[in-house]
Amino acid sequence: MHTDQTIFAAPAPAASTSNKLLKDIFYQETGPEYFQAVEKAREKVIDFLYNTRQPFSGIKPATIQDAVYSINLDTPLADYDELLTEVNEIYIKHATAFHLPQYIAHLNCPVVIPALAAEVIISAINSSQDTYDQSAGGTFIERRLIDWTAREIGYTHADGIFNSGGTQSNLMGLLLARDHFAINTLGHSIKKDGLPPQAHRFRIFASDKAHFSNLKNAALLGLGEQAIVKVPTDKRFRMDAQALKAAIDEQLNQGNIPVAIVATAGTTDFGNIDPLKSIAAIAADYRLWMHVDAAYGCGLLLSNKHRRLLDGIELADSITIDYHKSFFQPISSSALLVKNKSTLELVKHHADYLNPEEQDYDELPAQVNKSITQITRRFDALKLWCTLRIMGKHKLGIYTDMMIDTAAATAALLQQDPDFDLLSSSDLGILVFRFKPGSLKTDLSALNQAIKKSLFFEGAFIVAGTKVNGNFYLKFTILNPVTTVADIRTILEAIKSRGYSLIEG
Ligand SMILES: *Cc1c(COP(=O)(O)O)cnc(C)c1O
Repeated sequence: MHTDQTIFAAPAPAASTSNKLLKDIFYQETGPEYFQAVEKAREKVIDFLYNTRQPFSGIKPATIQDAVYSINLDTPLADYDELLTEVNEIYIKHATAFHLPQYIAHLNCPVVIPALAAEVIISAINSSQDTYDQSAGGTFIERRLIDWTAREIGYTHADGIFNSGGTQSNLMGLLLARDHFAINTLGHSIKKDGLPPQAHRFRIFASDKAHFSNLKNAALLGLGEQAIVKVPTDKRFRMDAQALKAAIDEQLNQGNIPVAIVATAGTTDFGNIDPLKSIAAIAADYRLWMHVDAAYGCGLLLSNKHRRLLDGIELADSITIDYHKSFFQPISSSALLVKNKSTLELVKHHADYLNPEEQDYDELPAQVNKSITQITRRFDALKLWCTLRIMGKHKLGIYTDMMIDTAAATAALLQQDPDFDLLSSSDLGILVFRFKPGSLKTDLSALNQAIKKSLFFEGAFIVAGTKVNGNFYLKFTILNPVTTVADIRTILEAIKSRGYSLIEG
């Protein structure tokens, strides 16, 4: 086995594998094959980085579908050059370039380089985070990062687990809320016995701007979408605490059973933070589980300047963090944290072959005990570890501050310009607005929709859109510290000139 790095620094030697049949398996005989393949893949990435000038090629679905479906999967290619040429044609060339300032649409952050280096290690070594015998250091690296996140939150007896994304973390938060309520109030184990007869009356309160994963998750939990009570929001689209109290009282009057409140720290459409302290006080009054969906707003944990916007988050029973939204991590990387570590007992299941009941888990830990839907689980935590070890929290926090500053400057530009109508300021980096030229009588929703679509298929700019009270608006998600106010001006000019030309046309 060759472990000497210098062997690989020069152009990698020809395949050394004695057994050609096994040359594609990653094992001690195939170091050169592995090195060459990854080197060629990396060249393609560098090519993407240097030569991608706009965020999208503008390719139409039918064209790319044809290209993908015309390939015969049963006829393998000759080598990696052919392979990467094909991957480039059907994928990389048309991939959305999140790293460019002209991409300002959804919650896709640019990624940091230490996390990409970690990905190389994660995929090849391929640890699985379920048990100690599949991931020794990985078990404790994940735990340490959960503890680190807990400390940033202000938790003292917390625990948690890395998940695939915010949707899964929110699912886990609501599952814990549901099962905790059933055990403690009804003496009923949903894990063992399924839903109790009262379950169709369980109610979960979330603002009308909360993420739609809450609806999906209520459905998955057997409560139905009907269990989500949408609480009205204030002028800045944050949950109205008085309205929350009224909504809870109304449900109680109807004989329904309040179980949990979901507060959103950073809404997907406006980037604003629900009043966490007031909501926590109401949750305490009514003895309800408080879950904070901080999938987006968790980035504020990193910022010295803006951390106070999350004050009160430490009062939550559970919290969703998406490192792949706001910590510059590659997809996927998320966590669910609980204030009280013992609540994770609610999701523990044992299997004799993996995590037997009689095992002492203080002696031989098993993260699988805390995971709801993944047994085999990626070692995503290493990306955040490498990021913190090279960059430190402080630098990540500066990136977060830069985005918030850019968003504030953008809001000012939109407010000053009579051709634009801005709906709300943002605590983070999301701005919802529309092109609304002065006296013009036109269907503004159709006009703004047309602007968005035509910019997208030209590929030069990707902006998002959303509906508020039935009207279509454009949406910027500013999540890239590289983006400057000058970049934003260019995008706004493009929107305006496209708007005017659409009106004339
Ligand atoms: C993106 C988002 C989610 C869902 O997270 P995924 O990682 O996409 O599953 C949940 N809540 C909020 C507020 C989000 O912005």
